Amino acid sequence: MARNHFKYIILGGGVAAGYAAREFVKQGLKAGELAIISKEAVAPYERPALSKAYLFPQGAARLPGFHVCVGSGGERLLPQWYIEKGIDLILSTEIVKADLASKILTSASGVAFTYEILIIATGSAAIKLSDFGVQGANANNIFYLREIEDADKLVEAIQSKRNGKAVIVGGGYIGLEVSAAMRINNFTVTMVYPDPWCMPRLFTAEIAAFYEAYYVSKGVKIIKGTVAVGFDINSDEDVKSVKLKDGRVLDADIVVVGVGGRPLTTLFKGQVEEEKGGIKTDGYFKTSVPNVYAVGDVATFPLKLYREMRRVEHVDHARKSAEQAVKAIKSTEASKTLEEYDYLPYFYSRSFDLSWQFYGDNTGETVLFGNSNPTSPNPKFGSYWIKDGKVVGAFLESGTPEENNAMSRVASVQPSVLDLERLQTQGLHFAFHI
Ligand SMILES: Cc1cc2nc3c(=O)[nH]c(=O)nc-3n(C[C@H](O)[C@H](O)[C@H](O)COP(=O)(O)OP(=O)(O)OC[C@H]3O[C@@H](n4cnc5c(N)ncnc54)[C@H](O)[C@@H]3O)c2cc1C
Repeated sequence: MARNHFKYIILGGGVAAGYAAREFVKQGLKAGELAIISKEAVAPYERPALSKAYLFPQGAARLPGFHVCVGSGGERLLPQWYIEKGIDLILSTEIVKADLASKILTSASGVAFTYEILIIATGSAAIKLSDFGVQGANANNIFYLREIEDADKLVEAIQSKRNGKAVIVGGGYIGLEVSAAMRINNFTVTMVYPDPWCMPRLFTAEIAAFYEAYYVSKGVKIIKGTVAVGFDINSDEDVKSVKLKDGRVLDADIVVVGVGGRPLTTLFKGQVEEEKGGIKTDGYFKTSVPNVYAVGDVATFPLKLYREMRRVEHVDHARKSAEQAVKAIKSTEASKTLEEYDYLPYFYSRSFDLSWQFYGDNTGETVLFGNSNPTSPNPKFGSYWIKDGKVVGAFLESGTPEENNAMSRVASVQPSVLDLERLQTQGLHFAFHI
């Protein structure tokens, strides 16, 4: 019979789980102490690849090429690594019940797992159009992208609907990255989103204007200010067209929906304190329940720099929060002290020949600098966000590693600025003088 009691269990086998496992090993782990339980069939991998190189027509990223921790320049943890370290990687196993008071997790097939310390790393699920009752939303060839299984289905459809028509619903980073990938696969691509510009949660109108014009120049059609309200299907239940609220109908062989994620916290409802849609933690990722930690997308934690509680759905935080939680567990065991998590938000995206990075907070006034002409052969531009006379956020398109480091420094130092016109003229030079 399989052994089902572990000193530590990580629930979820995504980015945070992989980085937590590496940190456990760094801090000292005995064989048999740690289990990772994951719904997915593969060892932890760098999820951002799924909407980027995984979809390329040539030279596509495939496992084992992008198992964690290659995304941050670290060692690639192959399934063998977990065996060598004595970590039980329990795959294709969905936990359907979590009883935090009795420390029991129960799987869909009825197996019970018990633990002393639990790290919740269940991440998010894609929001589905069927959740809103959109007619026809369960048709074939309507895709979401969260796990490798979703990406495999999309790749199969890309191969069977060669040179077809794709409609991408949503203008966030998944919508932008997948639109680019579909275009590279020679699909006719239309993006649809309700907002006045793409990535409204981060981009200013000026930043978005660059990306929209660039996408149009690559042959992507953009329809803004409306939403998909239904899908026409054929007798095989394949999607045929997308009906928009403004009355337009778009032919489609493939639809990819990227309208946001929802943290997977339902298993723990009523058992643990929540805040801002996530599981509330302290600066060590401890939840309100003793010996239960929450990391990555599900955690709402104190963001020290901005003195407020936040939930961050980005890969860099998934990695760092996981490492912090393990350090906290090990420090507690050794009766040592540990600094609280002090995080500088960092997001990035890549599509076509473009690549941007953002550091800090996107609040306050903005100053755009550099060359944001989308028809220029080498566009390179950025933006600063200024709040209460201090630069709090920094964005850069096509930066070198050195330039991106300088932008990160600006966002963490938060230098004062009095003259915004001067800041605009100084542009990147400003960052190099911090
Ligand atoms: C397609 C895509 C592209 C992205 N690109 C970027 C990017 O370019 N830049 C960026 O900063 N961020 C990006 N992100 C976000 C980033 O990947 C996430 O923030 C990160 O993966 C969060 O890590 P996590 O470990 O919290 O959750 P996840 O990596 O999602 O892992 C959660 C794991 O828990 C498992 N699980 C959930 N519930 C259960 C259960 N009940 N039982 C068992 N297992 C369970 C899941 O199957 C999964 O394996 C992207 C996300 C996606 C989906």
